[in-house]
Amino acid sequence: MTAARIPCINPACRRTASSERLGDCRYIVCQKCWKVLPVATRKRFRKLHAVSRRLDRLHAKPKFCEGRGAQWSRIDRLYNAAWARMDDYLAGFFSGESGPDGLEDFMKENGIA
Ligand SMILES: [Zn+2]
Repeated sequence: MTAARIPCINPACRRTASSERLGDCRYIVCQKCWKVLPVATRKRFRKLHAVSRRLDRLHAKPKFCEGRGAQWSRIDRLYNAAWARMDDYLAGFFSGESGPDGLEDFMKENGIA
């Protein structure tokens, strides 16, 4: 039995990644689609990952967690909201008019289909 695959967020892209290797990700942004994204979006995406690593590192230390439940829940809420905005932006970017052309558009432009 093959493991489930994680799809690229671009609906026109058919690339997938192994869920065994990446864990419980909702989507991937493959290299081809990554290069299409604006530089500001790529910087924001990397920044969110950096914040994630920092928060994980701090959360592993008991002195940062004791008596700070409300603070951590606020951080968690803000962090999840930031990722939700990024997810919405990426989904809109790849499904909207400003996104990259799919295979059908490429074929129509070149007179193949
Ligand atoms: Zn892709």
